Amino acid sequence: MSTVSDIFGSLVFDDRVMRANLSADVYASLRKTIDEGTQLDIGVANSVARAMKEWAIANGATHFTHWFQPLTGITAEKHDSFISPSPDGGVIMEFSGKELIKGEPDASSFPSGGLRATFEARGYTAWDPTSYAFIKGKTLCIPTAFCSYGGHALDKKTPLLRSMEVLSRQALRILRLFGNDTARRVLSSVGPEQEYFLVTKEMYDQRPDLRFTGRTLFGARPPKGQELDDHYFGVIKPGVAAFMEDLNEELWKLGILAKTEHNEVAPAQHELAPIYTTTNIATDHNQLTMEIMQKVAARHGLVCLLHEKPFAGVNGSGKHNNWSIATDGGQNLLSPGDTPYENAQFLLFLCAVIKAVDDYQDLLRLSVATAGNDHRLGANEAPPAVVSIFLGDELDAILDAIENDTPYEGAEKKMMKLGVDVLPRFRRDTTDRNRTSPFAFTGNKFEFRMLGSSNSIACANIMLNSAVAESLRLFADTLEGAEDFETALHDLIRATIRDHRRIIFNGNGYDEAWIREATEERGLLNYCTTADCMPHLLDRKNVDMLTGLGVFTEEELRSRRDIMLENYCKSIVIEANTMTDMTRTLIVPAIERYAADVAKGITAKKEIAPGLACVYETDLVGKLSELIDEIAAKTDELEAALLTIGGAEDIVEESAAIRDRLLPVMSELRVPCDEAERLTAKSYWPFPTYADLLFGVK
Ligand code: ADP
Ligand code: MG
Repeated sequence: MSTVSDIFGSLVFDDRVMRANLSADVYASLRKTIDEGTQLDIGVANSVARAMKEWAIANGATHFTHWFQPLTGITAEKHDSFISPSPDGGVIMEFSGKELIKGEPDASSFPSGGLRATFEARGYTAWDPTSYAFIKGKTLCIPTAFCSYGGHALDKKTPLLRSMEVLSRQALRILRLFGNDTARRVLSSVGPEQEYFLVTKEMYDQRPDLRFTGRTLFGARPPKGQELDDHYFGVIKPGVAAFMEDLNEELWKLGILAKTEHNEVAPAQHELAPIYTTTNIATDHNQLTMEIMQKVAARHGLVCLLHEKPFAGVNGSGKHNNWSIATDGGQNLLSPGDTPYENAQFLLFLCAVIKAVDDYQDLLRLSVATAGNDHRLGANEAPPAVVSIFLGDELDAILDAIENDTPYEGAEKKMMKLGVDVLPRFRRDTTDRNRTSPFAFTGNKFEFRMLGSSNSIACANIMLNSAVAESLRLFADTLEGAEDFETALHDLIRATIRDHRRIIFNGNGYDEAWIREATEERGLLNYCTTADCMPHLLDRKNVDMLTGLGVFTEEELRSRRDIMLENYCKSIVIEANTMTDMTRTLIVPAIERYAADVAKGITAKKEIAPGLACVYETDLVGKLSELIDEIAAKTDELEAALLTIGGAEDIVEESAAIRDRLLPVMSELRVPCDEAERLTAKSYWPFPTYADLLFGVK
C-alpha cells in the first residue's frame, strides 16, 4: 500500500525532481527564473529539457504537449511524440530546449476574437517555468502561455502572469514606504473551493439537455429537495466516497493539495477544496482538477456536472476564490500584524482592496459572467449580482472610528491612532458568518464568491490583481511624495474609507431590500446578465486602467469581450435548439402516448360499465391535451424567435437580442412541460426526473 507521501507529486517535475536531476548550475539558474522571472538561456533550457524528458520517459510518458488555456475556458493540448528516427533505422527519444520553450500549435481554430487574421493563423506557446510540468496519461504536459505572432495574448495565463507582476511591483512600493527593504516579490495566492454535482452516467445519457448544454432545461421540482439541509455535511454515500478517494489520489499524484471534501447543501452536490497556492499554479491546478473530476467520475459510472445551475430550484454550483497577498518571505499582507506599524500597513492594503472592489465592481462582475452563471447571480441565489464587501462588525467598527475620529469601541474604548495602536486580531468566527456576501473578508484573506463552478479562476484573479494593483499604485504615488508619511497615511486611509464606504455591506445579500438600497441609494451596479455587463469591459476607465498597467492591450480587451459574448450567444442558442428538439421529439410524444392510453382506458371502461362517468380520466386527458397545445405553441414561438437571431450588426446587439427574445420564451416553454411531467405516469416520461437524478447515486 503506498502512502500519501509516496504518491504526492509523483507525476510532477517539481522542485524535488529538479534538484535531484539537474546540475547545481542549471538548477540555480532555473530557480532564479522561477523565483524572479528572469529570462532562461537556451543552454539551460536544453539541460532542463533533457532531464525532463528522461524523467518523463522513466515515468511512462511517450509524448509531450504544451498545455495551455485558450479563451474558450477549457484547456488545450497538442501532442507530439518524443520519438525521432535515428540514422540506424530505429528511433530515439528526443526533446530539445527549443521545444520546451516554444511550441507552434496550428491555432487557427481557437477563438481569438478577430486578433489573428487567417493568413497568420499560427500562434505560439511559451513555457511558464513557474508552473511545474506534469504527466497525464502517457503525456508530459508543459504549462504554457499562448500568444499570437503579433505578441497578443490568446490565453488566460498571459494576462494572469502580467497581473501578478504589476500587483507585485505596486505592493513592493508600499512595503518600501513602511521600511521593508527585504521583500523581493509580493505574490497573490488563491485557494479555490470547487462545487459540483454527481449523477449516474446511465441517467445522464438519457437527457439530451444534460448532454448538450450541461444543465436540465426541463424538470419538475422533486417532492424532496434541499429543504431539510440534511445533505450538507451529511454522511457521504459509498459510491461518492469511492469517487472522492480515487479523485484525491489522482490529484495528489499531480501535486494538487486536495484537502477537504464534503457534501454541499443540495442533494448530489459536493465540494472540493485544495490548500491555497500561488495564483497561476492554483489556476492550472483548478483547470486540472475540473478535468480529472470528469475523468474519474467516468471510471465510477458517474458524470460530474460543473454547470453553474444544472437543476432549477436547487442550489447552483460556484467556486469560492479565497485570495490573499503575501511577501516572498511569507508575510500575509491581509493579516493584521503584531505591531502598530504592521497594523497601519494592513489597513492600507485593506483600503486598497476596498477601493479596488468599489472602483471596478463592473470588472469583477464581468470576470465571472457566463450564460450558466447568470442563473445564479441575480437570480435569487447567493451571491447576488451586486458586488459588495463584507468586513464583519469588528473591522467595520475600526474603520468607523478612523473615518470619524471617534473612539473605537472594542475591548477597551480608545482612539485609534495609526502607527501607534495595536489592532485586535480578527477571529475567524467573527468574520466568516456571512455566507451571502459576494466578497467577504475572512480573517486574513478575501473570499470572492461570485465565480461559477465552471469558470476558469484566471479571469477573476486577473481583474482582482489588477484593480488592487491600481489602488496601490495611486496610494504609492500619494505617499511617496508626502512630507510627513504618517499624517499622509492617516489622511489617505480616512479618505479612502469615506469615499468607498458604500461598497461595504454586512447584512443579508439575498434580501430584496438590499438590492434596492444598493442600486437606488448607494449607486452600486447590478448587472443581471452577461449581455448587460460584458460590454463594460471596454468602458474608458476600465481600458485605461488595464492598459495603463500593461495587463491587456486594447485589442486584447476587445477580442475578449467579443469571445465572451459569442460564447454567451452560442450557449443560449444551443439551449433553445435543444429545448425545441426535446419538446417535439420526446416530451410531446410522451404526453400524447399517455393521454391516448388514458383515453383508451375510458372507452374500455365504458364498454364494460356504460354508466361510468370517468370524471378524473376525462379531465386528465383534457388537461394533457391543453398542455400539449401550449407546449406546441411555445415551441413554435421559440423557433420563430430563433429565426430572428443572427442578423445583428455586432455581438453586443446580438447578445442583447438573445437575452430579450430567447430567454423569456425558454422560461415560458418550460412551465407547461414541467406541469405535464407532474401529470404524466412516470413510466411514460421519456427521461429521468429530478428525483431520479438527485437521489440516484448510491
Ligand atoms: P471554509 O471556507 O470552507 O470554511 P477555509 O476557509 O479553511 O474553509 O479554506 C477555504 C480555502 O481557503 C482553502 O482552499 C484554503 O486553502 C484557502 N485559504 C486559507 N488561507 C488562505 C490564504 N491566506 N490565502 C488564500 N487562500 C487561503
Ligand atoms: Mg469558504
